[in-house]
Amino acid sequence: MDREELIRSVGQMVGPENTLSSETDLMLYGYDASLYRGKPDCITLPGSTEEVSRVVRFARQAGVHVVARGSGTNLSGGTIPIQGGIVLHLSRMNKILEIDIENQRAIVEPGVFTLGLKNQLVRSGYLYQPDPASEKVSTLGGNFGENSGGPHCLKYGVTTNHVLGAEVVLYDGEIVWVGGKALDNPGYDLTGILVGSEGTLGIATKIVLRIMPKPEAVKTMLAIYNTLKDAGNTVSAIIAEGIIPATLEMLDKLTIKAVEESIHAGFPLDAEAVLLIELDGLKDGIERLAGKIVEICKKNNVREVKVAKNEADRAQLWAGRKGAFGAVARLRPNYLVCDGTVPRTKLPEVLSKVVEVGNKYNLAIANVFHAGDGNLHPLILFDERNEEELKRVRLAGSEILKLCSDAGGTISGEHGIGAEKIKEMFLVFTTEDMAAMKRVKKAFDPEDVYNPNKVIPKLEGSLS
Ligand SMILES: Cc1cc2nc3c(=O)[nH]c(=O)nc-3n(C[C@H](O)[C@H](O)[C@H](O)COP(=O)(O)OP(=O)(O)OC[C@H]3O[C@@H](n4cnc5c(N)ncnc54)[C@H](O)[C@@H]3O)c2cc1C
Repeated sequence: MDREELIRSVGQMVGPENTLSSETDLMLYGYDASLYRGKPDCITLPGSTEEVSRVVRFARQAGVHVVARGSGTNLSGGTIPIQGGIVLHLSRMNKILEIDIENQRAIVEPGVFTLGLKNQLVRSGYLYQPDPASEKVSTLGGNFGENSGGPHCLKYGVTTNHVLGAEVVLYDGEIVWVGGKALDNPGYDLTGILVGSEGTLGIATKIVLRIMPKPEAVKTMLAIYNTLKDAGNTVSAIIAEGIIPATLEMLDKLTIKAVEESIHAGFPLDAEAVLLIELDGLKDGIERLAGKIVEICKKNNVREVKVAKNEADRAQLWAGRKGAFGAVARLRPNYLVCDGTVPRTKLPEVLSKVVEVGNKYNLAIANVFHAGDGNLHPLILFDERNEEELKRVRLAGSEILKLCSDAGGTISGEHGIGAEKIKEMFLVFTTEDMAAMKRVKKAFDPEDVYNPNKVIPKLEGSLS
């Protein structure tokens, strides 16, 4: 279809004031937080499910692709319009539709910021647990698309454990509901398939979430180490003891330096690693558990354990962790976030191999990650204007993901596959596995309207 006609038609459905098509707009929506770039034909910001449905029905008939977008903070190229088409930016659908305290549920539109929901719940003494470090700007629709994790997901589970249902617009514009407010629904778990499908199967226009009362007590500690190995060993020792803290996060020396230069969280500059450990639950017993953790840290050669004395101390420590990606971004013009998972007991071994990869490719790598989940985030620093360096970065990133899969882990803990890790799917899945996934895609979206060329690689000789 002629581009001018496409823009005019979409403008008629959603309003010309909510439809963008200038060269600057097309360039801006060609980015997300990954290294990929693309260019849409136009961008539209629908205000209701009906408008989403109308645009999708039209796009399908016109043979145009549709890419859903929240805040574009995903780290795997999930919102890059690789084959052009319409970017559906859901930021205007940003209402919290219902907070049902009695039944511990919330219903939201997809454009609500993750932290926006939490702030709303605080007044009632409730929480939405998943907490991607990007929560100030990430949307609940994006969290749904990526099945996002976060520091508190060690104890409480990732997004899929908190999504109970959704209203979804299918590839032909049909509006359906999957799941609902109940804890479990009979039949196939379609909600489970849609969460984490990276906008390739359907677009969520309303999401039913599980909310929980705030824990009675919280205890936050910073354990300081002279070696990465001792910090890594502490992580598996804590879990082996049967203790599941709310969070168990690790930051290495380069990250600590970046954080201290910008955020001043009180992390010691001469440490090789720190662990941010948080316990939550009933007041009763929390001190005893904290004492046990300090003992385990000591057995693993901790240099010092600092305990947050009040909410201000705790907020300062968390500012350091949640601002770590941003702080590292000050060190070089770009970084690639690798997101691999390994069994916790393999953390020290894999971390030392990550250091070797950095040395091999002459690249600085900072590590800040959800250690309790065995979810590594090596941040490889570089300058994208240096093409030769960029090539080394891609090789190093791929090699790190291979290290994770070789160690019995996998190629994504929470950031998805998108466009960026499509090649690495072969590290962990067979061709048959991926052909089965392709059949799922075909069942939901037989005409490949949604987010083409993401998640599943092209397979020779089978379904394209
Ligand atoms: C500094 C920083 C820190 C981060 N920390 C974490 C972290 O701790 N944990 C973590 O898991 N991630 C983290 N991320 C990654 C990112 O923030 C998450 O993936 C987040 O969920 C993306 O939300 P978004 O609104 O930006 O979604 P987008 O990037 O806009 O979209 C993400 C994917 O979801 C799809 N999508 C968007 N809306 C919908 C919808 N309504 N229905 C269906 N599909 C949809 C998109 O097509 C895309 O594939 C971080 C990113 C940054 C930049």
